[in-house]
Amino acid sequence: MLSEWIELSLESTAPTSRGGKLPGGTYTLHAAGVLELTPTECRSEAHACVLSAGIHGNETAPIELLGECLARLEAGLLALGAPVLMILGNPEAMRRAERYVNTNLNRLFRRDLDESGMEPDRARLLMRAVDDFFSRYPEHERLHYDLHTAIRDSRYPRFAVEPFAETATRHEQWRWLAAADIQAVLHQHQHSWTFSHYSKHHHQAQAFTLELGRALPFGHNDLAPLAPMARLLEALLEGRKPSGDTPERMRFFRVAHELMRHSEDFRLCFADDTPNFTEFAPGTQLAEDAEAGSFVVESEPLSVVFPNAAVELGARAALLARPAPAPTDPG
Ligand SMILES: [Zn+2]
Repeated sequence: MLSEWIELSLESTAPTSRGGKLPGGTYTLHAAGVLELTPTECRSEAHACVLSAGIHGNETAPIELLGECLARLEAGLLALGAPVLMILGNPEAMRRAERYVNTNLNRLFRRDLDESGMEPDRARLLMRAVDDFFSRYPEHERLHYDLHTAIRDSRYPRFAVEPFAETATRHEQWRWLAAADIQAVLHQHQHSWTFSHYSKHHHQAQAFTLELGRALPFGHNDLAPLAPMARLLEALLEGRKPSGDTPERMRFFRVAHELMRHSEDFRLCFADDTPNFTEFAPGTQLAEDAEAGSFVVESEPLSVVFPNAAVELGARAALLARPAPAPTDPG
C-alpha cells in the first residue's frame, strides 16, 4: 500500500485501506495526499517531521524522492523511528502536471485566509493536518522540509530558503543541509505565507523550503545528485542523528528587496532563462512597471532569485539578494 500511495493520490482513486502496519510502526491516510507514519517506539534523537512535496504540481523529483523513502521503509530497509507526516501538496495540479490549477498554493498558508476555491481549501486542509500532527507530539523538536524544484536553472541548483520568523534556526540544521549537498541558503527578510513559514511561525519548527534542481516531468528526473538529501531524509525517518558537514560549504544570501508586479504593463529587463542567483551590477535596470516605474540596482550588486514576470497582479515577480556571512556555531 505504502509504495502505491503516490500513484493512488495521482489517480484520485479512493484507497480501500485507511491504515496499516509497516516495519517499525503503522501508517494512517488522513486525506488524499496526507499520510502519517507512527513509530512503535520513537528513538531519542527523533524529531516530529513534516516532509512535503508537490505543493507545485509539476515539481516531481521530490515526490519521487519521498516515494523512494516509502519503498525502502516498506521493504524493511529502513525502520521507522520518528513520527512523520508526509504530504503531497496539490494532487490535482500533480495530475495535470501543472504548477497550480487556479492560484499558487504556496502563498496561501495563513490562518486568516479568506479566499475561496480549490487551492485555498487545500491550504486550509494542510494547515489543519500540520496543526493536528504537531499537537500529538508536544515533547518533540519539530521540523518541516518542504521540497520543491525550480522552474529555471540556478548557479546553485540545490538551495534552501529559510523562512522569516522568530524561531532561530539551530546550527545543526546548517550542518545537516551542508552534508545533504545543499549549495546555497537564502534568508528571507520578511514574512511570506509559504508552507514552511507556516510551520516555523505557528509551531516553532525548524523549517525550510528546499529547492532540489530543475522541474522535470515524472520519469525524467536524475535522482543521483539528490542521494545525499535522501540520506538526510532516511536519518530523519529512522529517528537517527543525520550526518553533518561544515556550513561554509554553502553560500549564504539575504533577501534585500522584493520586486512586485503592480500593473498589467510589467516586464523584467533580463532574459527569461536567466538562472537563479545571477548577479546584476549597480546601474542595471531590472524591471519596468507602468505604475511603480523602473527598478534599477543602486550602490551594491543584487542577485536575482525566482524571477517570474507572469505572476498575478500584486504578487512577487522576483527576490533580490545580497551575500551574507555563514552562520557561526554558538557552541
Ligand atoms: Zn515550487
